[in-house]
Amino acid sequence: MDAPSLKPTSVITGGSGFLGSHLSDRLLKEGHRVIAIDNLITGNVANIEHLAGNPDFKFIRHDVTEYIFVPGKVDYVWHFASPASPIDYLRIPIPTLKVGSLGTHNALGLAREKGASFLLASTSECYGDPLIHPQTEDYWGNVNPIGPRGVYDEAKRFAEAITMAYHRFHQMNTHIVRIFNTYGPRMRLNDGRVVPAFIGQALTGEPMTIFGDGSQTRSFCFVSDLIDGIFRLMMSGFHEPVNIGNPREMTIREFGEEIRRITGTQSQIEHKPLPVDDPKVRQPDITRARKVLGWEPKVEFDTGIRETIEFFRDKV
Ligand code: UDP
Repeated sequence: MDAPSLKPTSVITGGSGFLGSHLSDRLLKEGHRVIAIDNLITGNVANIEHLAGNPDFKFIRHDVTEYIFVPGKVDYVWHFASPASPIDYLRIPIPTLKVGSLGTHNALGLAREKGASFLLASTSECYGDPLIHPQTEDYWGNVNPIGPRGVYDEAKRFAEAITMAYHRFHQMNTHIVRIFNTYGPRMRLNDGRVVPAFIGQALTGEPMTIFGDGSQTRSFCFVSDLIDGIFRLMMSGFHEPVNIGNPREMTIREFGEEIRRITGTQSQIEHKPLPVDDPKVRQPDITRARKVLGWEPKVEFDTGIRETIEFFRDKV
């Protein structure tokens, strides 16, 4: 039998997804043992294949809406499993609801059983189509519960509620990060989100599909900055939600222009209908993250987006 490891052990649900795989890399660098759990609905083993053979890394294919069994000690549970793209919520609405509700319940149960700290990957979608701007954590949001995005937004809002209940009722050490739009290598080329969509279209010369008139705004954070904020949050003693994202806001039209400029593409612009309940604005207020975690994003948009474009170059 293996001698018990002195290294901290982290379980990551959604461990082979875009964020889960970057988190795995970071935690291994921090000297953790990492157990990544994923049912591969939207995750991809290619994201973690570079970790195969690493004695501190283990992958378990499992759907966390079913009971999660992990032998041995666990110090941290990072609950990242969930579809995260609007077209995925439309394609798999019920698994989206289940992983945010049943999956979060199981992940909290695992953390409680092991006496582990817990972190929920929540989302700026909790604010819905926001009526205050930029969004602060004390804003309760403007969500349509029965719209097509409601399956994600409400599942994550439920996930926040049950996480706070476990904190208050079971005195668990829990954390909630509200993740704003994040980009970087290992996004899925065809996941439908604007970053891979525009880059893929620009690299192949296909028309770039702007939904609506492109005046809606988003604020894009590079993945290494996001992971750093999340790591700090787990190690903190702070239990209320914290926004992590980059406040640099731009319209989707401006984002398209940036991609055109950097890739030098000849792609034309094609307008498509705006999806139902598409938020008109989104920008994180990161005052709390600055104060509580001493965190703010560092990677310039130009640097991050060039690295992301390079990643996609041989994927198209
Ligand atoms: N969008 C777009 N063209 C695309 C994909 C998305 O114009 O091919 C828009 C979308 O309507 C939204 C913004 O880009 O206003 C960001 O969409 P994304 O799917 O990346 O995520 P969201 O921030 O809406 O969750």
